[in-house]
Amino acid sequence: MIKENIFEVRKRIASACLKAGRKADTLKVIAVSKNRSIEEIKEAVESGITEFGENRVQEALLKYSAVAARWHMVGHLQTNKAGEAVKIFDLIQSVDSLRLAREIDKEALKINKIQDILLEVKISPEEAKFGLRPQETPGVIREVSAFKNIKIKGLMAIAPIVKNPEEARTYFRILKSLRDQIDSRLILSMGMTDDFEAAIKEGSDMVRIGRAIFEN
Ligand SMILES: *Cc1c(COP(=O)(O)O)cnc(C)c1O
Repeated sequence: MIKENIFEVRKRIASACLKAGRKADTLKVIAVSKNRSIEEIKEAVESGITEFGENRVQEALLKYSAVAARWHMVGHLQTNKAGEAVKIFDLIQSVDSLRLAREIDKEALKINKIQDILLEVKISPEEAKFGLRPQETPGVIREVSAFKNIKIKGLMAIAPIVKNPEEARTYFRILKSLRDQIDSRLILSMGMTDDFEAAIKEGSDMVRIGRAIFEN
């Protein structure tokens, strides 16, 4: 099942990339494996998935020791979990405050690591629980850029639930224009099961897909 799902997702990604006039291999696919078993993750690995997203540190720790892959933190990270997070995650996508960034920097220094991160931005003010406001993002980036054990790779956002996925494009455009305004080298992590095609059309570099890969 997972194998067929991945085949289908890749086909849809290729088609969205074609429509957007871009190469499919420019896009990274992160399989969001929260609440999925190690067996399911191994099945995805067999189908060529190499990067997984988790939203809880404890759960990710177990999977990290069982499966060789690259791990992404995509859920809200509490500052007191930063120490464990830097030990296992290749990319922490959900950095949503200066305070958390400072803690990650401190913990990364302890293990002599430069931690790659994305800053999470709130693109739908009324619905999103976590994330920086777009207007405060440039200032936070300036401060975090001075931290020696953190490297900011880009921006991440979650679009609100909309009736027609095409409507999500408006939200993705907010993140893209913010990025263009700050630094065009920053990558964009946007697009999930319900809206990844819209995100690709708006210039996503990284999609985070859970249900379309792991559900029947
Ligand atoms: C759960 C989750 C995803 C994947 O969502 P699906 O709709 O299952 O594809 C992506 N990003 C974040 C931040 C998530 O929490």
